[in-house]
Amino acid sequence: MADSAVAPDPQATEDDAALVGFVERHDASCPVCEYSLRGLRSTVCPECAAHLSLQVGSKDLHLGPWFFAVVSISLGLGFDTVFCLLVFIGSTIAVVMNGGLPPLKDIVPVLIILGIMVPLWAACVAGLGALYQRRVAWRRMSIRRQWKTAAAIFFGTGLVHAAAGALLIKIMS
Ligand SMILES: [Zn+2]
Repeated sequence: MADSAVAPDPQATEDDAALVGFVERHDASCPVCEYSLRGLRSTVCPECAAHLSLQVGSKDLHLGPWFFAVVSISLGLGFDTVFCLLVFIGSTIAVVMNGGLPPLKDIVPVLIILGIMVPLWAACVAGLGALYQRRVAWRRMSIRRQWKTAAAIFFGTGLVHAAAGALLIKIMS
């Protein structure tokens, strides 16, 4: 009879043995359901059936400041997206109901609004992209510097959006 079973990966078997050996002697929780794995004899969580694997971690990996920075820019991006979409959809409906493009002087305010908000939207996209691209350099900064940079991103994003809002109100009034 042909043996169609795939041979076990020796490295994976070794890693599984190391994992079982570790949880036999240490208090560790399942990363999915937080069930205590101490004394576990297999690589499957007995509570939630999650497959467990050996991984390398670091106490120097801090996700708080990174999360704060990403959320700060994402809030701006979300606001800009909704705002630009509302202006675009509203203008399109107005053009359709009008039966054609209105005179240029009536379009100028919409173009000014989009001329301010679309670059702001693009800046947020670029900011998120830069955060992602520079993620390794970010993680290598001290935790203090990470929080300072994240706070600067939060206030910077807020201030730029507040300034854009003030400019739009001034132009529209
Ligand atoms: Zn579990």
